[in-house]
Order: sequence, then C-alpha cells, then structure tokens
Amino acid sequence: MRIILLGCPGAGKGTQSKVLAEKYGIVHIATGDLFRAEIAGKTPLGLKVADYLKSGTLVPDPVVVEMVAKHLDDSPSGFLLDGFPRTLEQAQALDQFMKKENQSIDLVLYLNMKTDDVIRRLTSRRYCQGCNTVYNLISSPPKVEGKCDKDSQDLRQRVDDGEAVVKKRLMVYEDLTRPLVAYYRSEQTLHEIEGSRPADQVTQDLVSIIDGLVVNK
Ligand code: AMP
Repeated sequence: MRIILLGCPGAGKGTQSKVLAEKYGIVHIATGDLFRAEIAGKTPLGLKVADYLKSGTLVPDPVVVEMVAKHLDDSPSGFLLDGFPRTLEQAQALDQFMKKENQSIDLVLYLNMKTDDVIRRLTSRRYCQGCNTVYNLISSPPKVEGKCDKDSQDLRQRVDDGEAVVKKRLMVYEDLTRPLVAYYRSEQTLHEIEGSRPADQVTQDLVSIIDGLVVNK
C-alpha cells in the first residue's frame, strides 16, 4: 500500500499516520520528524535545514527529495508519506520515482481543517522530550501538568508551534501545498476527510477508506 497523507500543519497527519502505520504494518515516512532527528543529532543535514524549520519555511525541494528517495528505496512493499510532498515539484519528483519503480500511489488522504481550528490546535500542542508522545493542552492534556504520562519527562513546545511561526507555516501551506489537493483530485486518488473532529473518529473514516481499497484490489 502506498499512501500520502495530505493536509495543513496541525490537521492531524502525524497522529493518524502513527495509528495507521501500526495497524497496517506499513513504513511511516514523516519528513518533519526526519529533519528534527537530524537537527537533534547535529548532523550536516540537520545544520543545513535547522533555520528553515525554525522559521516555518520549506526546506528546498532537492534536499527533501534526496532524503525521501533514500527512504522510498528502503520501503519496496509500501509506505505512508506524512508531510511529503509539499510542493508541486516534490509531487512530480515522487511521480517520476514511482514510474521508474513501476509503482503508483494508491490513495491520497486529505485531512481538511479550518485555519482558526488549526491555530488553536497547534499553539496548544506539546511533546515529550523523552519519548515524543504528543499532547494537546485542550483536547488531550497530560495527567500531571507539564509532564509526560508515559515517562514523566518534561513536555516541550515545538520551536515552530508559537503563534507567529504557525501563521507563517499556514501561509506557506496555502501558497505551495494546497495546490496539491487539485493535483491529486484530478488523478482520482484523493479522499477528503474533515480533520477537526476527534482523532478516533477521523481514524475510523481513514480505516474504512483504506479497507475499501484493500477489498477492491
Ligand atoms: P512538519 O513536522 O511536517 O510540520 O514539518 C516541520 C518543518 O519541516 C516544515 O515547516 C518544513 O520546514 C520542514 N519540512 C517537512 N517536510 C517538508 C517538505 N516535504 N518540504 C519542505 N520542507 C519540509
């Protein structure tokens, strides 16, 4: 199964991808997570991309495409892409990669969400610095304020989840990523899901779409 999860920052792509990747046993490729790991490890790639992430702008296409290509090479039996593609150029690079491998994208799952809901959701998001579990101070707060339920480590806010950078990320999304909705809709692989509902309801919808695909194959 080859799936793209599309949607603006904060639409729930990361949360849903983790559940789906586990349920279907497919590789989860999350470009934002990969970049954050490179930054944390202070690798040459991490140093190169850190300022883009901090400011909420996109890492240049060739850098992203090169990184993703390595992961696609390692996932011949399927993947779930989360946060990639984010530009038309990236989508075209992915098309070329698929063509070369004689493969195709089975599904594009588009999590749609209103801007106001996104700003509220992102600015109240926190993550555990130890195990990366994600919380939301409004909809899924930790039991003890500021501490992870799983390992009691401190919770942090992502550097790009402050209000000013969130607004920048949403502008970038509108300009560069939203056009991909039309791009994939024309290929008839796109399914639109309302992302502002509780996560388990969104998961149910996604699962029934994916199960429908499996049954119809
Ligand atoms: P995310 O965790 O998906 O919200 O991504 C966090 C940040 O990583 C983005 O704001 C970009 O700076 C960078 N990033 C992640 N994926 C991509 C991509 N496909 N293209 C360019 N930049 C990306």
